[in-house]
Amino acid sequence: MATQRIHPETAVLTRGFDPRLSVGSARPPVYRSSTYVFPSPEAAERAFAVALGKIEPEREVGDLIYARLSHPNAEIVEDQLVPLEPGARAAAVFNSGMAAISTVLLGLLEPGGSIVYTLPLYGGTHHLIQRVLMPLGISACPVHAGDTQGLRTAIERTENLRVVFVETPANPTLVMTDIGAAADAIRNRSDRPLLAVDNTLLGPAFQHPLMHGADLVIYSATKFLGGFSDLLAGVVMAPDTELVMRMRRLRAMLGNILQADECWILDSRLSTVSLRMNRQSKNAQRIATRLVEHPALRRIYYPSLFADPEQCRIRDAQTDFPGSMMTLEFNEGKAAAFDFLRRLRIARNAVSLGGVESLACHPLTTTHSELSAEELAQSGINEAMVRVSVGTEHWRDLLEDFLNALRA
Ligand SMILES: *Cc1c(COP(=O)(O)O)cnc(C)c1O
Repeated sequence: MATQRIHPETAVLTRGFDPRLSVGSARPPVYRSSTYVFPSPEAAERAFAVALGKIEPEREVGDLIYARLSHPNAEIVEDQLVPLEPGARAAAVFNSGMAAISTVLLGLLEPGGSIVYTLPLYGGTHHLIQRVLMPLGISACPVHAGDTQGLRTAIERTENLRVVFVETPANPTLVMTDIGAAADAIRNRSDRPLLAVDNTLLGPAFQHPLMHGADLVIYSATKFLGGFSDLLAGVVMAPDTELVMRMRRLRAMLGNILQADECWILDSRLSTVSLRMNRQSKNAQRIATRLVEHPALRRIYYPSLFADPEQCRIRDAQTDFPGSMMTLEFNEGKAAAFDFLRRLRIARNAVSLGGVESLACHPLTTTHSELSAEELAQSGINEAMVRVSVGTEHWRDLLEDFLNALRA
């Protein structure tokens, strides 16, 4: 069994948790302890030496010390996350997506170092770069999402480049960035910066950045991994276990590990990620296909409706299914967008995405309201857009809800 190749849906239910270590419990229990008892002072001495990286652990995981460093529920959910991400060998969990992103960027960058990143970025990440990293003396070079040549050039030319941070597809335009091209350009540099991909929108089911040469995959597990809009969490995964260990050591200092109860909740959601994402993607695909000719809409942004050949190429090379995020652009601008949001009866007007319930929002006045007019224009975001995260409801009910809300 250990060497047999199994699919992620099976691995997530059979790997990473051993009932024998928890009195035979079929599902993981919750270990709420903040501190752990040592069998001897020598064991305590050894556990600290392992935690501080002074000696190698005798087993794959070190002994438990104190829950800010690690705890059983973190270790269980980390082991169960790994098989969901092709190419990953280790995972670290954080108490939000932003905690995961900030730990990675603070861990990989130092004053004088540079980051190349795609634009638009998730608002929190954008603020982190502008308001925390740049004042610390880190240079930041934005590249437009989907600009493959621009990305190559930025990676070739940026001095002291430590991290390339790609978020693909972009939110809310769904423009895709070529992960493999970024990895290629990095390979040509002798100083080998790392490629980190925020895979929140299409992973772990439909996009596998590590298979295209990324070094780190980051998630807001608040979205699809959590899946029910009732939990904040973040995940970092990588093929290099030492890199993940570094992030865990920094996590212990920053104090942003995911707590036991949240780990347990996240763990219980992992076996249905693939089911939910497939259903949500099918729903969205059916709805997008039927709304695309609607006279009230100027355009629908959705991967299966891409027209640009470069975007189609990236989509086909790096994604398996179009996913459940789409953006509707109204002919009659902001008023029509707001009317649509007001009239929805099934989908709710809220930010966030990836849950089983459908959500819709007006990005320009909410999630992207802090961008300047110039940044909005560069990011292709306008006042006529409504972003929709399609849930697991029956697609005909959702379509009917959207058609009713579109009726002026
Ligand atoms: C939500 C989100 C984040 C931030 O995650 P939190 O869990 O809210 O901290 C980062 N990146 C993307 C793409 C997101 O959608």
